[in-house]
Amino acid sequence: MTKTEEKYQILKQYFGYEDFRPGQEKLIDSILSGRDVLGILPTGAGKSLCFQIPALIMEGITLVISPLISLMKDQVASLNQVGIHAAFLNSSLTYGQYQKALAFAAEGRYKIIYVAPERLETAEFLSFALHAKISMVAVDEAHCVSQWGQDFRPSYLKITDFVDKLPVRPVISAFTATATKEVREDMIDILMLRDPVLVTTGYDRPNLYLGVQTPKDKYSALKQFVEMHPGQCGIIYCLTRKLVEEVCVRLEDDGFSVTRYHAGLSDKERRENQDDFIYDRKQIIVATNAFGMGIDKSNVRYVVHYNMPKNLESYYQEVGRCARDGEPGECILFYSGQDVVTNQRFIEYNQDNEELDDFTRAIVMERDRERLKKMTYYCFTNECLRDYILRYFGEYGSNYCGNCFNCLSQFETVDVTVEAEKITECVKTSGQRYGINVILDTVHGANTAKIRQYKMDKNPCYGTLAKVPAWRLRQIFNHLLLEEYLTTTNDEYMLVKLTEKSDSLLEGKVSVSMKMAKEQEKTEKTAVKKKKKTAGVLLSNEQEALFEKLRQLRMEIAKEEKVPPYIVFSDKTLVHMCQVRPENKAQMLKVSGVGEFKYQKYGESFLEVILNLHT
Ligand code: ADP
Ligand code: MG
Ligand code: ZN
Repeated sequence: MTKTEEKYQILKQYFGYEDFRPGQEKLIDSILSGRDVLGILPTGAGKSLCFQIPALIMEGITLVISPLISLMKDQVASLNQVGIHAAFLNSSLTYGQYQKALAFAAEGRYKIIYVAPERLETAEFLSFALHAKISMVAVDEAHCVSQWGQDFRPSYLKITDFVDKLPVRPVISAFTATATKEVREDMIDILMLRDPVLVTTGYDRPNLYLGVQTPKDKYSALKQFVEMHPGQCGIIYCLTRKLVEEVCVRLEDDGFSVTRYHAGLSDKERRENQDDFIYDRKQIIVATNAFGMGIDKSNVRYVVHYNMPKNLESYYQEVGRCARDGEPGECILFYSGQDVVTNQRFIEYNQDNEELDDFTRAIVMERDRERLKKMTYYCFTNECLRDYILRYFGEYGSNYCGNCFNCLSQFETVDVTVEAEKITECVKTSGQRYGINVILDTVHGANTAKIRQYKMDKNPCYGTLAKVPAWRLRQIFNHLLLEEYLTTTNDEYMLVKLTEKSDSLLEGKVSVSMKMAKEQEKTEKTAVKKKKKTAGVLLSNEQEALFEKLRQLRMEIAKEEKVPPYIVFSDKTLVHMCQVRPENKAQMLKVSGVGEFKYQKYGESFLEVILNLHT
């Protein structure tokens, strides 16, 4: 079997999926061809498979470095569930358990071993690693190596020392969701990736609805929101522990199924509360930003920020935990001026990182202030919220996503045919020799040295759109590029050229309209109320009834096997079962998320429930 056939077979047989998601295949292929890789994919995009599948195909062992115990536990449980032998080595094991796991590892029982970074350099682990065949070191949450990132972990700096000690250098693969430019460079430099294949799939999570509100009374706005989402799981983030306590108690008093999470609770209570949420025993968790890393719960339907967080990196990471199953999810931020003050205070008094000298601390502080400012602007902008975030991460959105509060309330369709014609005419009459700025300055009637030098003030289109604001002209121009009425050359000059579609425009045969921000005060309408959905899908009453039965069965199995329900099957898989109504094994295997191994374990029980629905 070729490696291509093999990777598809593994995808289907173990994970129960038919197709790869964007970026996955390229990462897997590059690893298999022996290249280092850096995968920057948004939360929920499916980074784990990118190292797990090659790990199964390659000879030898893959070590996965991961920052959090909960993260390792979860992933190893998922792997064991689908019949893959994997283990983790971290401080949650007793010494006896650790010894046993290492012994098994030395016998070659595991293809995949998760290791905490601080274990790498211990004598015991080294003596195992130096004698084993380690074919890959996969660094998950790789942004932890960077001081400019969100979660700098000095122990991550030990990874390269460890790799240097190995007799043969393994492939190094690194994965993260966070990647501003500095962090990206740090990951490559510090992990010493060799000519890595870089794969970024973009940050957009189109299934997430984004909204900002400025409620006078945050609690009643929250209550109203939660009431509108009965039976759905959600996370509510607050800036302080005190507020977590307060909001949690009020929700509890109002009869909601709710728990809480923050660093002030004992380890035991934190774990219990987190499990209550993950195992669907509690629907809502109120938490500080301490909660969430490594939470792979796929059916979180909403994330409410009771306060504005400190920066967009945090915000996008936190909303990233919403709707990981790819179905619709809602992310609402409650803004108030006080949030800015609280965050400023956090920045001034931040003593988190004791290793920093005064000079570095000052730089970090300045950077933090800058990030807070950008976060604050997000709460005020009238533009598309998604576009704002994507631009922050260095991507280009389309300035209208249709699934954010601003797009749904602040945009209107505007006819821009006249503007489009003038711009295109200007390109034509000036011989397609100029770049974007010259063209726009010309129609706008700018009186600059450059315009006079190029004699564009003599162009017939000069000043014909003088009344349209410059930023608006640029938006229209971008729209023309997007719709291919115009194009630009691919070199540094980016000269504007006509396309096949330009003629129809110049001949007056088409009209052009686009979505544009309404020029008005920001309104305070809440998002349009939607019909109740299951895992984001509208089910018929009958399907809904079946879903409930399947969910019960899943809960029983989960309890018996002591794993979270979504590790048995995700909501999405159950919904798919309700829609497909498989009647036999072959049909069941077609359901997304049902692989051979899981079928062997649970397939029959689920089939039975489906077949007996009406008896
Ligand atoms: P990330 O680490 O990028 O945040 P995960 O690796 O935890 O994301 O994957 C998120 C979810 O997507 C998991 O439930 C996983 O099983 C699912 N998933 C991954 N790859 C695929 C695929 N090719 N098709 C369908 N679902 C997938
Ligand atoms: Mg991950
Ligand atoms: Zn939008």
